[in-house]
Amino acid sequence: MQWEVVIGLEIHAQLSTKSKIFSGAATAYGALPNTQACAVDLGLPGVLPVLNGEAVRMAVKFGLATGATIARRSVFARKNYFYPDLPKGYQISQYELPVVAQGTLQIELDDGATKTVGITRAHLEEDAGKSLHEDFHGLTGIDLNRAGTPLLEIVSEPDLRSAKEAVAYMKKIHSLVRYLEICDGNMQEGSFRCDANVSVRPKGQEKFGTRAEIKNINSFRFVEKAINYEVERQIEVIEGGGAVVQETRLYDPDKNETRSMRSKEEAMDYRYFPDPDLLPLDIDDAFIETVRGTLPELPDQKRERFIYEYGLTPYEASVLSASRELADFFEAVEKASDGEAKLAANWVMGDLSGALNKSGLDIIVSPVTPGMLGGMIKRISDNTISGKIAKEVFEAMWNGEGDADAVIEKKGLKQVTDTGAIEQAIDAVMAANPKQLEQYRSGQEKLFGYFVGQVMKATQGKANPALLNELLRTRLRSR
Ligand code: ADP
Ligand code: MG
Repeated sequence: MQWEVVIGLEIHAQLSTKSKIFSGAATAYGALPNTQACAVDLGLPGVLPVLNGEAVRMAVKFGLATGATIARRSVFARKNYFYPDLPKGYQISQYELPVVAQGTLQIELDDGATKTVGITRAHLEEDAGKSLHEDFHGLTGIDLNRAGTPLLEIVSEPDLRSAKEAVAYMKKIHSLVRYLEICDGNMQEGSFRCDANVSVRPKGQEKFGTRAEIKNINSFRFVEKAINYEVERQIEVIEGGGAVVQETRLYDPDKNETRSMRSKEEAMDYRYFPDPDLLPLDIDDAFIETVRGTLPELPDQKRERFIYEYGLTPYEASVLSASRELADFFEAVEKASDGEAKLAANWVMGDLSGALNKSGLDIIVSPVTPGMLGGMIKRISDNTISGKIAKEVFEAMWNGEGDADAVIEKKGLKQVTDTGAIEQAIDAVMAANPKQLEQYRSGQEKLFGYFVGQVMKATQGKANPALLNELLRTRLRSR
């Protein structure tokens, strides 16, 4: 039996407003427990919520960036359930009438193809508090700092067909909300997390299978692993003659498995109803147009521009446009190198990204600045140094030894372009390797590389590679 995987994601993006969605309390992460929770967040009787206009602006910005419909009227509803970190006994969310509906997002797949994923809706809601279990022996602590933090819940259509597609979609949403500056995307701090709905069906069958919902996954890697595990599990259940039950599951990264948490509640269990404390949210055209005017160049637009403006490959353009910081860095390097776009792309995606990864640094604090990298690339294109020596220069710049010109000067890395000096080195190498010379001359052409290596060694890597190749070829041929 061939199985088809069906996935829909619900992504929670914490909106980066200064204050909460219905109160004036601060949203900054990491404060001491319960120092950022006011009477509204505590759910004290008699207080009234007031909607934060900035959160609405951010939701609309997201809607416009995904070509969605912005509801002229949307409604906040109470979603009723009991939990210690939810003192009101209900969460304010949007249910029947969300602010954003029917958007789309393009994702790029491994084979270079693109796919359009439907966004069913994106609605505004408040986050709950946190239950703390560590440090409390036999007790649970409640921290309400997070209560009332604005969230945009972005719900996809069940359009995704593999764990890889789900990750590509999640990464694209992550990139988009950061471009829009509506969410910091910090997954460790829980600012960006997702629930994955997963089902399988026999290939060719139209009807969807029963889904399980895996809650609160906060890394791209875990999303992929959790979905793959869940797919295997469901196929095993069905092939063993059982049936998948609709339920909520938790992913355990240590054991790499999903476990049943609770049976899936139905919408009716929450007794949704419009919150009588909040007026419907009315949005007019003028507001929408004002927000439209604040949209930056979006990832897809940037990617296209990188291809036609700089002649990058679609792959390079995708990588470099994935984050605004990376894209800005690349463009600054390109500028500082006087238009060496290809080299700029190679160095940013290669050595620079590698070094940043290795030391766990963010690109905005890179010790090698765009100006330094661009300056170094200029020295490659004007033949002062070879690409190979440039690696040494890069490392020295990374270690704080100054800019490219200073490093080249101090370490004497200037490339040898003096024909006489290179020929001298070639002659010495030929004289020292009579056996290899004879083999080469009797037809073993692949020994050419050996001679290149020897001459490079003799010149400490400083011979201009193109010149060396040319001189060596004539020298080896002439007797
Ligand atoms: P709920 O609000 O109860 O979680 P929704 O109907 O709003 O349920 O769907 C939530 C998510 O589940 C959406 O992203 C949707 O695409 C996805 N989904 C719905 N049915 C399936 C299915 N059979 N298999 C996989 N995903 C599904
Ligand atoms: Mg759900």
